[in-house]
Amino acid sequence: MHPRDQTIFALSSGRPPSAIAIVRVSGPMAETVVSRLAGRMPVPRMATRALLHGQDQRPIDDAVVLWFPGPASATGEGVAEFHVHGGRAVLAALFNALAAFENVRAAEPGEFTRRAFENGKLDLTEAEGLDDLIHADTERQRRQALRQLKGLLGDRARDWRERIIAASALIEAGIDFSDEGDVPAELIAPALAKVESLRDEIRNVLAAQGQSERLRDGLVVAIAGPPNVGKSTLINQLARRDVAIVSPHAGTTRDVIEVQLDLDGYPVTVIDTAGIRETDDPVEQEGVRRARLRADEADLVLWLADGAGEVGAHDGAAPVWLVRNKIDLDAMRPNEPGEGSVRPEFGISAARGDGLPELIKALVSFAHDYFGTSEGGLIGRARQRKLLQETVESLSRSLDVIELGEELAAEELRRAAMSLGRLLGRVDVEDILDVIFREFCVGK
Ligand code: GDP
Ligand code: ZN
Repeated sequence: MHPRDQTIFALSSGRPPSAIAIVRVSGPMAETVVSRLAGRMPVPRMATRALLHGQDQRPIDDAVVLWFPGPASATGEGVAEFHVHGGRAVLAALFNALAAFENVRAAEPGEFTRRAFENGKLDLTEAEGLDDLIHADTERQRRQALRQLKGLLGDRARDWRERIIAASALIEAGIDFSDEGDVPAELIAPALAKVESLRDEIRNVLAAQGQSERLRDGLVVAIAGPPNVGKSTLINQLARRDVAIVSPHAGTTRDVIEVQLDLDGYPVTVIDTAGIRETDDPVEQEGVRRARLRADEADLVLWLADGAGEVGAHDGAAPVWLVRNKIDLDAMRPNEPGEGSVRPEFGISAARGDGLPELIKALVSFAHDYFGTSEGGLIGRARQRKLLQETVESLSRSLDVIELGEELAAEELRRAAMSLGRLLGRVDVEDILDVIFREFCVGK
């Protein structure tokens, strides 16, 4: 039996142990599974209490079960939900009981959503929005993902695609009905006008969205600088503030330490690039190499210095802010800028917290510019932006080549429609879908 025709199950709620765990089952066997385990068939879409039994008749758990007959279900297939006590042993017993049925197996990551997609329950942009919503950490990420999930981009793309197909039909009709190969101008002119306004519409959407897909990955800020300038102290300070959404996972001193900040709804990852220096110790070298890679990938570098400050060598293209730390010691040291020094943009005391509100404010403002749009936009991923850009290019080319022949223009319009089809997941090769759905959580 093809894996796609098998029935799948997965834990759809968080890691055990938890008060309640939700296990979902989808596929042709779901109905049999729920009626056997629960001892009877629940009324569709009604929470029903049932003592679950395995096929050996041993009790599994006192549970609540739900039955959603297809096709009006989340996946389009029959879906059963088991709300059980969220202990590891309960889940193990339930999984064993489920796997004991023929053609029932554990789901791959994203497989429920993939079935929903394949059964026409959502388009690819909506599926991506669903995945992004599950992974949203900040308010702006949540709002953007929800827009995608609600299909706002999908709806626009469908409309554009239909209009492109209509315009190309006009041109192709002209080609078919003309004897000498000259398409009547009264057919061509309105089609061209439509293509042009469509192209401008998509272009405007692209321009208005700024870099909204960056919201998904967030902004990476590296804290760099020589040893003992206070990098660890600064990142620990940031982690203690109410802007931190994830506690820092501290490794050894050689490890890069990260903290996730929620700055005005923008996701910002701050990395302590501790230990960027020459070393002969091979273990240390590996840590240094990784730290350097992260810092080079950063979108912004905070270069920490405790004297007048000098920005050290770093290869990244990111802007560098010179931050002078330990200003609380200023009274005790000479304040003469050394040779090759740069005027610090910020003065802080990481230990006491002085100057941190100003630094954070500047980071928020940087984030604002970086993400490009305060509201988040229709475009949630680089994949989507790229396909919209391709669409615009094909539309422009169709206008350019119309002089050379209507067939060429029609071909470009087909290409534009194809790009939008890819955006929606209508025309796509299997392996692209594999890549997209593999990123999903198991149970989704
Ligand atoms: P790193 O090597 O750059 O990570 O530096 P650390 O954060 O480990 O700090 C090195 C030393 O500087 C420690 O003894 C800190 O307590 C001290 N330190 C860090 N920030 C400040 C500050 O703002 N003022 C003062 N007086 N000392 C600081
Ligand atoms: Zn440190």
